[in-house]
Amino acid sequence: MTGSIAGPLQALIDEFAKFPTIGPKTAARLAFYLLSRPRHEAQALAEAILAMKDNLRFCSLCFGLTQSEPCDICTDERRENTICVVAEAKDVYAVERTGAYKGRYHVLGGLISPIDGIGPAQVRLRELLERVGSERPKEIILATNPNAEGEATALYLSRVIAPLGVAVTRLAYGLPIGGDLDYADEITLAKSLEGRTTL
Ligand code: ZN
Repeated sequence: MTGSIAGPLQALIDEFAKFPTIGPKTAARLAFYLLSRPRHEAQALAEAILAMKDNLRFCSLCFGLTQSEPCDICTDERRENTICVVAEAKDVYAVERTGAYKGRYHVLGGLISPIDGIGPAQVRLRELLERVGSERPKEIILATNPNAEGEATALYLSRVIAPLGVAVTRLAYGLPIGGDLDYADEITLAKSLEGRTTL
């Protein structure tokens, strides 16, 4: 295909190919699929993408994604007074999906990685320590990924938080080492929450 017919299709294939885990073949399959669907379906997809970009922001307390400020989880009185510390906002979604956790969250916005020049000052550690002071959580669960950066971050946080007199726990290892929290299936992640260990 060439010229004006292929142009718009190729443009969409190129956009899909930027997605994680999507190669050129899958990108083409998705674009052809959309081409075969009615216009209103394509419009609904385009509008959902823009609505997400325009309406979501980061909660000023936990830095999770939210439409309201603070977020529904931070303001939910039924939530337990514990803080589950994760690297990214997408990890909140992964833990929520398990249904096994009833507390609140704190999104670090990255992991400590000296080799990449990311130290404690580059993640939201100060904000976490402020919350520990004001909310006095009964437990802090370190739910960073079971890889080198996740472990280094958990170790650092446990050392900084321990003197504050708050129980610090770490996810147990049903999780695949070197894996990603949001790729773990719900049952594995729920089990690693249940079996968490004190640091
Ligand atoms: Zn929040």
